[in-house]
Amino acid sequence: AISLPKPHERRVLTIANQKGGVGKTTTAVNLASALAVQGLTVLVVDLDPQGNASTALGVPHHSGVPSSYEILLGEVSAADAVQQSPHSERLFCIPATIDLAGAEIELVSMVARENRLRNALTKEALGPRDYDYVIIDCPPSLGLLTVNALVAAKEVLIPIQCEYYALEGVGQLLRNIELVQSHLNRDLHVSTVLLTMYDGRTKLADQVAAEVRAHFGSAVLRSVIPRSVKVSEAPGYGMTVLDYDPGSRGAMSYLDAGRELAARGTQKKQGNE
Ligand code: ADP
Ligand code: MG
Repeated sequence: AISLPKPHERRVLTIANQKGGVGKTTTAVNLASALAVQGLTVLVVDLDPQGNASTALGVPHHSGVPSSYEILLGEVSAADAVQQSPHSERLFCIPATIDLAGAEIELVSMVARENRLRNALTKEALGPRDYDYVIIDCPPSLGLLTVNALVAAKEVLIPIQCEYYALEGVGQLLRNIELVQSHLNRDLHVSTVLLTMYDGRTKLADQVAAEVRAHFGSAVLRSVIPRSVKVSEAPGYGMTVLDYDPGSRGAMSYLDAGRELAARGTQKKQGNE
């Protein structure tokens, strides 16, 4: 099996874009799976009350299962909420249950409300397993759950759908990231942009890709995720596309993206921007 280089230290990435349907969850689970297939140990934290990442990873997430909700509240340690994905020895998930839907409001009155996820995901709280990557899947909003995810990570990965209005809302997202950076988490930066649902037959997709590359430069991965039915079918079987159809273009593209992401993580650290 191919094995990717381990990062120098655990990498925590938040997948954010307040637009729904741009491929956040699909990217969170498939990128995680791609890293795991290639030898790394990965934890996905599902922070969307919809629980789509948990579903795609084949992990139970009915109400009452220890989840991201309980770890935000401090009722359960992160280690006790972790479940192994049934299709991989190296892929793990802290699921989201519907209880998380109330958290956005419950958090408002809590102490250190923006820091709760960070405090819940310390090395100690996560227990002895040596995760190389922690990938946090955000809900489609810029509320307190997303803020918690931005505070808990060093890196933001923004998936951008190669469609009309692709960059709509991205300015607002970047302003929020800057606010979090200046007030709550100095280390935060947009390390990665991934183009998703690319349809090579359309001129529009190329235009969007060019625009995104002009805007984000080297943060944009060279690998692009094609629009593919296999990618959208896989979650229905509780699988990532890498398990569902490993030879498909969708699976290959996420493997490529994983390789690129991992290679960047071992390059010498660049100065803070
Ligand atoms: P988000 O988490 O940003 O709301 P999702 O990852 O749930 O977005 O994707 C939205 C929808 O698009 C889902 O139904 C998903 O299966 C589908 N989808 C995502 N990526 C692809 C792709 N590369 N090809 C085909 N369908 C995709
Ligand atoms: Mg989602």
